[in-house]
Amino acid sequence: MIVEQIWTDNAYRNFNYLIACPDSGEALAIDPLDHKKCLAQAKDKGWQITQILNTHEHGDHTGGNRKMIDATGAKLLAHANARDKIPGIDRGLAAGDVIRVGRTVELEALDTPGHTMSHVCLLSHSERPALFCGDTLFNAGAGNCHSGGHPVELYHTFTGQLAKLGDDTMIYPGHDYIANNLRFTLDREPDNARAAQLLAEIEDQNPDDALVTSLALEKEINAFFRLHSPSVIATLREAFPGLPAEPDAQTIFVKLRELRNSW
Ligand SMILES: [Zn+2]
Ligand SMILES: [Zn+2]
Repeated sequence: MIVEQIWTDNAYRNFNYLIACPDSGEALAIDPLDHKKCLAQAKDKGWQITQILNTHEHGDHTGGNRKMIDATGAKLLAHANARDKIPGIDRGLAAGDVIRVGRTVELEALDTPGHTMSHVCLLSHSERPALFCGDTLFNAGAGNCHSGGHPVELYHTFTGQLAKLGDDTMIYPGHDYIANNLRFTLDREPDNARAAQLLAEIEDQNPDDALVTSLALEKEINAFFRLHSPSVIATLREAFPGLPAEPDAQTIFVKLRELRNSW
């Protein structure tokens, strides 16, 4: 499996992806908003884009579909429940469905509600797993829930699915928000030395050559995975004095998401 992360250099800071089979040269494009860059990259590598996957229905993820399909004839895949929101879906996906790319690549669809209620992430069945997580999980952050999502659902996706993946899973999100997200982690958990160190390392990174994190690293630097950190709970109590003495993880997550909305 070959992964190309494509930086769109737009105001929304989207990342698009090409996933290719090295044997056949067939490729799947994830959320190819910048269809021109994706097509140019595929041409450069000698790949044929045969499938498009939309992680969810938002326009900054689906906006390149039409031109990409016109140029390649690729089939469009998305969550089965997104049929009334994304025009022209050829294959509706449910949890556990396997997407094959060429002869060597297998990607498993995860049903990951929270950012929207029809959001899929893809998990590769490769020697080292990779997660293509759209707007569900960001480097050092979590997707917002104010355009069709729900924070309790996002909590269940984080704790019930994402946190249980292998620690070596590589994380490929739909946007480059890492610097701002690390600042939020440090605002919530000022003694997080790993987050401070990483912020210094990536603050001026070139998004064309962005750091790819692992799930293990996310568990160290992402506030939304640090629901049991004493300093996360202590600073949350300053913001929400009515918090119970021992707040449960779901309450912590939902309150963090609420603070992040206006941070
Ligand atoms: Zn979105
Ligand atoms: Zn987005």
